[in-house]
Amino acid sequence: MSTPATSASPPCHCCSGKPLAQCCGIYLSGQAYPNTAEALMRSRYSAFVTGNLPYLTKTWHPDTCPELNSDDLTTRWQRLEVVKSKQGLKKSIVEFRAWFTDGDTERALHEISLFKLHKKRWVYVEPLDKWPSIGAS
Ligand SMILES: [Zn+2]
Repeated sequence: MSTPATSASPPCHCCSGKPLAQCCGIYLSGQAYPNTAEALMRSRYSAFVTGNLPYLTKTWHPDTCPELNSDDLTTRWQRLEVVKSKQGLKKSIVEFRAWFTDGDTERALHEISLFKLHKKRWVYVEPLDKWPSIGAS
């Protein structure tokens, strides 16, 4: 099966409004690595949607990354809403709501996520209880 080169790429899972091929698709396929924590967070959401375990592992800090398997990816994600993000030089925070359906009910996972620069790449570290003060760095 081939796709005509002129066909439009579907909209990205992360709700950026951009086509997948010009958004998280670039990162999920390994053509590039996100250079901001928010882009990384969006691409990780898209990886959860598409069940891309290698990408989730690659973008998780080695100290906090769990053993992932496909049973962890059964959630039916609906959409992503980035509430607020703050980019630092070595640490960044992204607050988001990720909506999913649980039976007939729509629920949201609300998380304030900590990202750190690890080997010059942004990686997800862990959820935080509240917004910390990042300081001048
Ligand atoms: Zn995207």
